[in-house]
Amino acid sequence: MQAIAHLLFSPSSPSNVSMPTRPVSRAAQAAQQAAITQADPRWAAVQARSAAADGSFWYSVQTTGVYCRPSCAARTPRPENVRFHVSCAQAEAAGFRPCQRCKPQQSSATAHHAAQVTQACRILEAEDSVTLDALAARMGLSGSHLHRIFKQVTGLTPKAYAAAQREQRVRSALTQSGDSVTDAIYGAGYQSSSRFYERSTQVLGMTPSRYRAGGTAQQIRFAVAQCSLGAILIAHSGQGLCAILLGDDPDALVRDLQDRFAQAELVGGDAGFESLVARVVAFVEAPGLGLDLPLDVQGTAFQQRVWQALRAIPAGQTASYAEIAARIGAPTAMRAVAQACGANALAVAIPCHRVVRSDGALSGYRWGVERKRALLARESNAVHQPVAREKAA
Ligand SMILES: [Zn+2]
Repeated sequence: MQAIAHLLFSPSSPSNVSMPTRPVSRAAQAAQQAAITQADPRWAAVQARSAAADGSFWYSVQTTGVYCRPSCAARTPRPENVRFHVSCAQAEAAGFRPCQRCKPQQSSATAHHAAQVTQACRILEAEDSVTLDALAARMGLSGSHLHRIFKQVTGLTPKAYAAAQREQRVRSALTQSGDSVTDAIYGAGYQSSSRFYERSTQVLGMTPSRYRAGGTAQQIRFAVAQCSLGAILIAHSGQGLCAILLGDDPDALVRDLQDRFAQAELVGGDAGFESLVARVVAFVEAPGLGLDLPLDVQGTAFQQRVWQALRAIPAGQTASYAEIAARIGAPTAMRAVAQACGANALAVAIPCHRVVRSDGALSGYRWGVERKRALLARESNAVHQPVAREKAA
């Protein structure tokens, strides 16, 4: 404010000397300020009333003289009246009062929990064998409280999260380092080789030495069929379904499968595979019925967290990228969440079609936005009008 006053009224200001002043019209100023606001990525969070953005910035409204947190339920202000602030103190120093409705000066419990869980995740990622109690004590929390908020935010227990981290470490040690298999297992934080081998097929989908060899011995059976959404490729690794791909061109689906499992031996499904295909197609036609088949979900620890959160969205409902980011304890990682949705190999079974933009717009879909629209329409109808059971039989 002071800088502007100086420019307008200083006697040395060139506009006051000889040139006739050409005042910028009020409308032009407003349009300019609106453009500045709209170009700011924080404006989208304000329009979306994003609770995930709470605590990262505040905004003030010139016409009312108050400032708010991004999730404030009050009517969205006109962009030309909005200014952004990095702290409450900065907003108050600029002359704004806290909003009575969203009480921006009080820290939001959700944002606070998400920050605490993020901190816990970073510790679990860095350290192999920290116990829940030790972790909680270090953060000044009780074990049960930490367990509750961790589960609430990520959908995983701290123990399950730590296990996923170890699995990720052993995967990268086996593929990237020259360590022996045993060294890779201990290096990743497993207490004994036998503990690891008990779980290795679950973690790697195969034995560690096969995994190291590039998975050449992994056999993937697959078949391409037609469903109401077009061509569908279904692949099974021996551990579970590892791909459900949708598209127009069956050959393109097979090429996609080859790219995703470059080291595996792909084998066309035999007659016995047909009943599996029929079950998956029936599920895609009526996702609300659920899919009672094991999945072989292969991805990084972060992707696994995103996909787990997606599987928790019931048929007939949607969530925004920001909501998923908040649920997995990474409220600023909306872009990474979108990438994890795009990397999903299990269409419909991991329902990335239930993620939409904060304003409700469909956004993109790995398998085409028209298929996403069809799936969502189907699911919202099914909720009101259950699909006949015999369809799935
Ligand atoms: Zn407010």
